[in-house]
Amino acid sequence: MEKYSGRCRCEKTTFKISGEPTWKVNCNCNWCQTTSGSAFRSFVLFKEDDVTFLGERPTSYEDKKTEHGRPMINLFCSTCGTQIGIKVPSMEAQHISIGTIDQRKNINITCNIWGQEALQFIGYSKDAEVYKTGYWNGTGEKMLIEK
Ligand SMILES: [Zn+2]
Ligand SMILES: [Zn+2]
Repeated sequence: MEKYSGRCRCEKTTFKISGEPTWKVNCNCNWCQTTSGSAFRSFVLFKEDDVTFLGERPTSYEDKKTEHGRPMINLFCSTCGTQIGIKVPSMEAQHISIGTIDQRKNINITCNIWGQEALQFIGYSKDAEVYKTGYWNGTGEKMLIEK
């Protein structure tokens, strides 16, 4: 059953999602800053099998020289440029950019990673968890922040 849906700006790529998120995260790493052209990227992760792309498949760009050492595949619409999500080859998940999900106003993200690379104007909500670097299997080091 469809629980979420989404689209790029020009709607050449749309998707349907049948499951609930497995993780939700804001990433402040250098790679996310430069690939988004913005301060950070917000991802909602789903099981790969739960995500069905309709219309045009997103264009992919594989980057093997990321600052944090993990190859990343950026997925975007080649017509309108919308950042649809990413694929991390070492993770069994599909990261979807929150801004492409139709139901995004109902989704809250409290986990923040790569806080040590966050831009100086970034603030966090009262219920936020902030990790200095990545958060792999719950082993990430928490960063103390003033809220
Ligand atoms: Zn598009
Ligand atoms: Zn990142």
